[in-house]
Amino acid sequence: MDKTQVWDAALNQMSGKISRMEFHTWFKKIRVSEISGTAIVLACPTEMNKNWLESKYHGVILSNLKSVLPEIDRLYFRVELGLADTPVGKKDTPAVFAEPKAPRKLPNSPDARIEPGLETRITQPKFTLKNFIVGEENRFVHAACKSIVDTKPTEKKKYNPFFIYGGCGLGKTHLLQGIANELRGKYPNAKILYITSERFMNEIIDAIKNRKADELRKKYRRVDAFLLDDVQFFEGKEKTQEELFNTFNDLFEFNKQIVFSADRPPSELTGISDRLKSRMGWGLLADLQMPKFETRLAIVQAKAQERQLILPPDVQDFIATNVRNNLREVENILNQIAAEGDISGISPTVQTMGKMLRKINPDRSMEITGMGSLARSTDEVITIVSEYFQIPATELLGISRKKEIVFPRQIAWLLCKDVLKMSYEAIGADFGGKNHTTIMHGVRKIKDLARKDSPTARHIHALKKDLGIK
Ligand code: ADP
Ligand code: MG
Repeated sequence: MDKTQVWDAALNQMSGKISRMEFHTWFKKIRVSEISGTAIVLACPTEMNKNWLESKYHGVILSNLKSVLPEIDRLYFRVELGLADTPVGKKDTPAVFAEPKAPRKLPNSPDARIEPGLETRITQPKFTLKNFIVGEENRFVHAACKSIVDTKPTEKKKYNPFFIYGGCGLGKTHLLQGIANELRGKYPNAKILYITSERFMNEIIDAIKNRKADELRKKYRRVDAFLLDDVQFFEGKEKTQEELFNTFNDLFEFNKQIVFSADRPPSELTGISDRLKSRMGWGLLADLQMPKFETRLAIVQAKAQERQLILPPDVQDFIATNVRNNLREVENILNQIAAEGDISGISPTVQTMGKMLRKINPDRSMEITGMGSLARSTDEVITIVSEYFQIPATELLGISRKKEIVFPRQIAWLLCKDVLKMSYEAIGADFGGKNHTTIMHGVRKIKDLARKDSPTARHIHALKKDLGIK
């Protein structure tokens, strides 16, 4: 087997792991440069290509090479600039990565009518400016977005470029896609392009490789609004910055709306050329901050309503209090509530929320507040015990005498007694009208067990923790 055959065989095996697009972007010009002993060296056309393969694909490539040549156990990359200019013929592309015969059909979304070639930059229709909750903190940014949507493509632009910056999960993508969606709705003939910086870069690299850079440039120049998300991604990527710089100049000259987002203001972006940074700051800069509690609560309520989820007020409060850094957590929690509600039929409580938050973001589990201070009820004890032992709440309230039911039921009574300080009578009443002596005996039995038997003590300890007791 010669070097080419080894590489082709490995590529064929990788077809399930890398997409056609990844192949054309990162793998097409790669050659085996050397095989010596247990080591193999791959040649890459550019430094960037090399870095990319090294950091993202090292494991996949090595394991697939190994299954072609079992003796291989080390993989190295080197740059061979000559490769960049070698034309890649059709026959060099393994069949699995060849162009599909028929173009893929576009999903039937509002974006389907946009310019051919721009179809891959699909925005999510759920992001609009209308469903962006406006509070004191973000009123200015939102008003600027609104003004952009209200400016006709032919009109002189007031804020150009518009640069939104702020930390992760504060709504930058929501606003950019919201602008794109609303512009498309209002001016159906305008060509609106929303694109992430990563995708922009991949398209440019692809175009340069395939000698289609001019075509791509023309395509970008035809848009009426250009919304580029997360430009901090371009740090250190000179070639892409150059393309962006040219695109910017063309669009700006022809009075097209340009919107950028980043996690920092232009002046703080390092590794981005001064001339590009300066242009990014020519227009309006607006920063997005974490909204305060009231706005967060409104966001929780709006998003719950979108999902037709009914959340008790204390649960809404709890989420709004504890999501402090990244609003994406609100979506995550609500999706989880929706999913779990479908399965278990159990409605969310502050305690189950606390657990979800920990699951979503384990690093923050110590910061969660509100679990101990909120009023607790028999219902919460029942929910927690039923979740903990994985038995239906109705069984806890029922009269079954099976051991695997009686034990959790008596633990629930003990928690009501110890944590909620309820009387035996009150507990009996809440548990389906049982006699107070039944409750008293049950609680005593569990206490005795806990003294002698460490699993019982551990269950109680864990449940108390779930209830917010240290
Ligand atoms: P970023 O792009 O800044 O990382 P996203 O735009 O992806 O953040 O926002 C994260 C989540 O928070 C999204 O679900 C978004 O809808 C939501 N979000 C952020 N701010 C608001 C707001 N003011 N009103 C409604 N939803 C918001
Ligand atoms: Mg984003």
